[in-house]
Amino acid sequence: MQTDTEAITITGTAQREAWQRRVLPPVEVVVPGVHSVPVVFPENPMRYTLSYVLLDGDECVVVDPGFDSDEGHRQLLSALADLDVGPREITGIVATHFHTDHLGMAARLAHGSGAWIALGDNERRNISAFEDAHDESALDRARMRIWGVPEERVAEAAMSPQGLLDMRLLADADRRLGDADTLSVAGRNWRIMETPGHTPGHICLWDDEGELVLTGDHILPRISPNVSLEIRGDTDPLRHNIESLQRIAGNDHYEACPAHEYRFRGVGGRARVLEAHIAERSREVLEVLDQGASTVHDVARQLTWSRGWESLGQLQFRLALSESAAHIRYLATSGIHAGVPGLVATK
Ligand SMILES: [Zn+2]
Repeated sequence: MQTDTEAITITGTAQREAWQRRVLPPVEVVVPGVHSVPVVFPENPMRYTLSYVLLDGDECVVVDPGFDSDEGHRQLLSALADLDVGPREITGIVATHFHTDHLGMAARLAHGSGAWIALGDNERRNISAFEDAHDESALDRARMRIWGVPEERVAEAAMSPQGLLDMRLLADADRRLGDADTLSVAGRNWRIMETPGHTPGHICLWDDEGELVLTGDHILPRISPNVSLEIRGDTDPLRHNIESLQRIAGNDHYEACPAHEYRFRGVGGRARVLEAHIAERSREVLEVLDQGASTVHDVARQLTWSRGWESLGQLQFRLALSESAAHIRYLATSGIHAGVPGLVATK
């Protein structure tokens, strides 16, 4: 986790202040027709998702409705009520990516309103890739063993059948958005930019007239979004993430509206900082590999972790492994290192 904010200008000052005071930020008008609504993300250090409500006449599109909880649902509906929008009047939902803190509440909102749901063109829902959660979980445990995870921690690292089944609760998209698309809503034309990395089908939405960009989790002002080699996911996510960071550079005067933390200007500067962090981490991974680390687990345990390797459990343990794996794959596909079992240059 990085906390480098020098390259940006924070514009969401009330949001930042709320972040520091550990309270929910206020609902705010970003520009007329674009409202920022915090939706709680329970028991998670991110604390909340910033949903964006795009409003114009009869149209109401919610971007990243957030994690599905009763409290979050109440927060979103109450913000909509203050804007004179009833739960049935939501016309569309866009998730910048399929993670539960973005797409999670879409199913519930769509159920009550009949709103369409859109995801990026290349976003795959993992559930569509497997038939049986028990088989899939067994396959994942086998992979964790190949990654060198000690037997007593394999179950902790692997996706559980229940975790996989829970993904079935996520909404299906009835609309897909890619680079060629523009989403016209709230009197604005939102240009879609595919930004794979954090997930294979992550998208950002640009409003060139209003000089805004909804960055999802691709660019956050304070932390480095996790980039992981995931089950049936992108085979070289780090490479794609670096390309996506280069892609979003420019337009530093636009206001960036991220899905967590607070608004800021300077996406390009922030992208360069994130890229530098990745390069630094890759060097560290290479060093550990050169010293003889021979599995993903072996690499991960020798890297520096802000909270310490020993304290990483459950999901954090899994993410540490899959982040290390993404770096090893990247070094392998770059021809810099031969890789380790389960992670060589060939796909
Ligand atoms: Zn998120």
